[in-house]
Amino acid sequence: MPDINLLLRNNIKKLVPYSSARDEFSGIAKTFLDANENSLGSPIPEQYNRYPDPHQTRIKELLSGIKAVPGKNIFLGNGSDECIDLLYRAFCNPGKDNTIINPPTYGMYEVSAEINDVEVRKAMLAEDFQPDLEKMAALVDENTKIIWLCSPNNPTGNAFHHQSIEMILNNFDGLVVIDEAYINFSRQQSFVRELTEYPNLVILQTLSKAWGLAGLRVGMAFASEAIVEVLNRIKPPYNISQPTQDLLLTALKETGSVNEKIREIVTMRGLLANDLAQLPSVRKVYPSDANFLLVKIDNARAVYESLLSQGIVVRDRSKIVLCDDCLRITIGKKVENEELLRALSAV
Ligand code: PMP
Repeated sequence: MPDINLLLRNNIKKLVPYSSARDEFSGIAKTFLDANENSLGSPIPEQYNRYPDPHQTRIKELLSGIKAVPGKNIFLGNGSDECIDLLYRAFCNPGKDNTIINPPTYGMYEVSAEINDVEVRKAMLAEDFQPDLEKMAALVDENTKIIWLCSPNNPTGNAFHHQSIEMILNNFDGLVVIDEAYINFSRQQSFVRELTEYPNLVILQTLSKAWGLAGLRVGMAFASEAIVEVLNRIKPPYNISQPTQDLLLTALKETGSVNEKIREIVTMRGLLANDLAQLPSVRKVYPSDANFLLVKIDNARAVYESLLSQGIVVRDRSKIVLCDDCLRITIGKKVENEELLRALSAV
């Protein structure tokens, strides 16, 4: 069983975290003169003169019900991107430790590693976009602290085989982070149910995709209590703002309408994939477990420019490994998908 304490950086082990005014008092009071807020109020009708709950207790209670994960196993970040950065800061010694990613994949694992001066080792995905376990194993040494698995993967859109992920979890003693940003659109099940089996497992999810709340900036890390406790100790104390917490109290009650939108997006994904595959310039539409399609198309860059000139912006991934001549296209509203198809038929 991997020991989280052995993986932690020494300075983090020794850290005495910042103790905020709201940490030191949590009872009922009528006069708050403890946090140097502006007691006279905000310049707008909505009053945001008080600091938000640094532990986001009510939000975690709601999320706990939705995700069937105890609150003590939930960490909230300013987007998953903050969770990614905090994991490096807690576990990877700059200039010494390394991390493994599987290109082509989400760009922030590498950028965030570089910001933190952590060496990035790359095990390219196989031709079928599945992780190459042998290549990964060959890269691991005693300074390998984190393996990133993005499933469903961005930009390829596929989910990794469950057994491959389990194989990695069973054979690697560092942290295994599964980024499930797109899991709600997937046929594959979340690894959340396996949290109790693996103390070194971290699952990232986000409210930016299925929940339609990218503007609020809320990412979730589900992990053992020991890992969540570390992330809480090193995060900026008030990383989830009061307006965000207020809006979430309403939004998180809307599971019905969110599930409906997920179903609609999945249906439109199938229809758009079929329609795109009919176009003469389209070489391949890759199977997708996400809310986007990776499409191989003749002269992808020129197509990208042509779409842009008509006001339609997709993501040009044609210069990324294994993605020659590929565009990544987010599933839009019905009219937007039709507009895209019309524009592509004309190029
Ligand atoms: N993980 C993956 C795989 C993503 O594609 C993205 C955003 N494109 C993120 C994380 C970032 O999510 P957030 O908005 O929560 O920072």
